[in-house]
Amino acid sequence: MNNLTTRVERCFFKLYRRVIGSSARNRATILNFHRVFDGVNIGVGDFISRDEFVLKMEFIKKYFTVLSLPEALECYREKNIPSLAVIITIDDGYQDSYSVITPILESLGIQGAFFIATEGIDNGLLWNDKIRNAIHRTEKLEVKNFLGLPCQEINTLSNKQSAQKSIHNLCKYMTLESRENAIDELIELLDVDVSDDMFLTAANILEMHNAGMTIGAHTHKHPILNLETNENAYLEISQSKDILEGIIETSVDYFAYPNGKYNEDFNQSHILMLKELGFKAGLTTNWGSLHVDSDLYAIPRYTPWDRDVFRFGIRLCHHFRKKADYWR
Ligand SMILES: [Zn+2]
Repeated sequence: MNNLTTRVERCFFKLYRRVIGSSARNRATILNFHRVFDGVNIGVGDFISRDEFVLKMEFIKKYFTVLSLPEALECYREKNIPSLAVIITIDDGYQDSYSVITPILESLGIQGAFFIATEGIDNGLLWNDKIRNAIHRTEKLEVKNFLGLPCQEINTLSNKQSAQKSIHNLCKYMTLESRENAIDELIELLDVDVSDDMFLTAANILEMHNAGMTIGAHTHKHPILNLETNENAYLEISQSKDILEGIIETSVDYFAYPNGKYNEDFNQSHILMLKELGFKAGLTTNWGSLHVDSDLYAIPRYTPWDRDVFRFGIRLCHHFRKKADYWR
């Protein structure tokens, strides 16, 4: 992009932000990211590059009011959320949360909130990574006789990515027990070692906490809570809280629902569990804003999908104008 275009865009953005800003008081947007890669990306999912993440964080820092999640909730309690307030959240707890994302946020003085699925701390990976590793590491050329799926060739990178995606989507909406059995079967079928160390360690999490990042729970094994018995769901939520509290030696007050869609992935009974366990807030992936009438146990998030930082900023600004909780 040449300098003239950049200058015109900046002027336009400043003007647009000023127009939106006056109507955006008492409303915050919580952005949600997952992975930021600093090399080759072979994953399927929500990955962005390091350069893109840096540009977006610099842009947000410059033109919006960045708050930590506890600060935003304090403003909510005082019914005084500043204009164009933005909160950064990162889900799941992969190693790049520590090695890539935290240093970027720290250099900009941003305190992000990290929601960690704690099984990965001991195992080094989550269920979806086992599927990816099995398909990308195996020497077999096809996946056949697996869960009634048609035979899938995995002889090229693009075939592997497409097989990974279809198996991932199938396993995502299984109970934890069925999912674990299915993945064991896949590993046996493909005769492959899937082990990895791509997750945060306890030492990483403690260091992030000491650097001012908010550490939140995200269950233990990342199940769809709606598919589990109440007993299992409660155990999943409480176990992740206990493990993280053992690491940072202070209370873990915030929770992000895995997959995160109200009714589809979790329901009122899980909200009651959060309250019973002493969480102060629960975050969804439904679109909307945090505003003074929000339900603190079903806080919506919203992340513009544009790669280009200017378009990202415009869409983020525009979001502040939308009716709050328009997903309900
Ligand atoms: Zn997640």
